Amino acid sequence: MSKKLNGTVIVTYRCNAKCTMCNRYKVPSLPEEEISIETIRKLPQMYFTNITGGEPFIREDLKDIVRELYKKSDRIVISTNGFFTDRIVDLCKEFPQVGIRISIEGLENTNNEIRGLPDGYNRGYTTLKKLVSMGMKDVGFGMTVQDKNAPDLVPLYNISNEMNMEFATASLHNSFYFVESNNIIHDRLMVAQNFEDLVNELLNSNSPKKWFRAYFNHGLINYIFSQKRLLPCDMSFDTFFIDPYGDVMPCNGTKEKEVMGNLNSQEWDELWNSEKAENVRKKVRCCDRNCWMIGSVSPAMHKYIWVPALWVIKHKFLFFWKKKKYSMYENKIVRDFRDGKVSKKELDACSTCENCR
Ligand code: SF4
Ligand code: SF4
Repeated sequence: MSKKLNGTVIVTYRCNAKCTMCNRYKVPSLPEEEISIETIRKLPQMYFTNITGGEPFIREDLKDIVRELYKKSDRIVISTNGFFTDRIVDLCKEFPQVGIRISIEGLENTNNEIRGLPDGYNRGYTTLKKLVSMGMKDVGFGMTVQDKNAPDLVPLYNISNEMNMEFATASLHNSFYFVESNNIIHDRLMVAQNFEDLVNELLNSNSPKKWFRAYFNHGLINYIFSQKRLLPCDMSFDTFFIDPYGDVMPCNGTKEKEVMGNLNSQEWDELWNSEKAENVRKKVRCCDRNCWMIGSVSPAMHKYIWVPALWVIKHKFLFFWKKKKYSMYENKIVRDFRDGKVSKKELDACSTCENCR
């Protein structure tokens, strides 16, 4: 039996939000061209599937998609902005084992400003509360950290703790997927300070999962200082993305869309083992975009587990026996920036922001 993969299914590029860091809503897919159940049936066996968008709950046949995907996936998590409460609750009644991640971009005013959805925060929060009251086990929220919402990072983490939920973080990225090339963190030290506080909250918890999340957030500090990824990126080797048009891609971080093949017109094995797919894998091997998004980092953390594990052991030891907290200045680049050895302009030039070159 062939190895199970990690897949992300982008079911639509339509979105009801207008986020400041993503222009996807300006380039939506048309309903009639979006990935069909027939194409979804051709996907391989997966140990994990993320369903995302756009806003996936815009698709009225999402339940049919989930039903089909459960025939081939051990675990499914849907990423959503949480606006369509009734549709989300309805789907969760049929699939209580599904994971739901609601993106909330800060406390109320900040979230609504970033998301461009009046009442977006209340809608997302109401959805979260309803899911918890229904007894859903795999519910959490996620936040894409930028200058504007960084001070809300720990307060939102505390809310997630009170609700006994997962808390996922990301930072600004540029790619074809976000239809954006000018995202950048401006006040790196301020944002990194908020990540440092979160890392210490996570390390101070009793949950090994949170200790590994601390490592992920340490990696985000490294990322916003435009440094090399802490772990290799193996996207397209045992991981894939498929978009609403049936195009199979290595990831969602590339500048231009990279296509391994099209599942509307090909069979999975033919596509996955094709020369075109091999050429994309060669590009991934030399990719210098250094993304640090959970989609590419989570498989890498499992594959190179000793790297985060050693980091966790070291920091737990320092935390509990020496009372020494994690500091962002453990990263040489952060010290160099503080000490004026590297300038903002130099860091900006190493980022993926096109405006900064
Ligand atoms: S980030 Fe998500 S919710 Fe916001 S516009 Fe883009 S696809 Fe929509
Ligand atoms: S670093 Fe990895 S996830 Fe980012 S663009 Fe390159 S191949 Fe894709």
